Amino acid sequence: MLVSDLKNIIREVPDYPKPGIVFYDLTTLFKNGGAFRTVIERLAERFREDKIDMVVGIEARGFMLAAALAYEYGLGIVPVRKPGKLPWRITGEDYTLEYGQGRLEVHEDAVEKGQRVLIVDDVLATGGTAAATGRLINRLGASVCGYAFLVELCFLNGRDLLRSDNVFSLISYP
Ligand code: AMP
Repeated sequence: MLVSDLKNIIREVPDYPKPGIVFYDLTTLFKNGGAFRTVIERLAERFREDKIDMVVGIEARGFMLAAALAYEYGLGIVPVRKPGKLPWRITGEDYTLEYGQGRLEVHEDAVEKGQRVLIVDDVLATGGTAAATGRLINRLGASVCGYAFLVELCFLNGRDLLRSDNVFSLISYP
């Protein structure tokens, strides 16, 4: 499948989860094997030269992309999770998102000092979620070598919050 065809199979759900929000429902893309393969191949290609040590996925839809990318690179994957889900010692960050407040947590030993990390999520909206994940990774002494998204909502200027010039999204909505 071509990247240009992917937009057609993303379901746009108006007024979810709140009035005025258009929710980009990726389940219609994820269940299509050809589409999912195209997404992973193209994202993997984009960051292949970035000397990544670890792939970080943001709960929950980010896990699907991050796991496939990590497998493709032969690398490990680290989950950044919503509060109370991780069993061991954690560090956490609060953030603001398009439709509410959130907090994300990661295990203190998830990454090693000096490692180069690729952060992966499904949608870049206001950037709060990805920026908070970047702060978590930096606090553990690792560096963010890139941010990978399937969809970017450009009108929310999320990439302005990410202190990186290596931000890529496969599909963008102007
Ligand atoms: P943000 O922190 O505003 O960049 O929001 C990004 C996170 O919220 C991602 O993990 C997305 O899964 C989710 N998200 C935010 N807005 C939308 C939207 N309009 N459609 C689908 N997912 C969204």
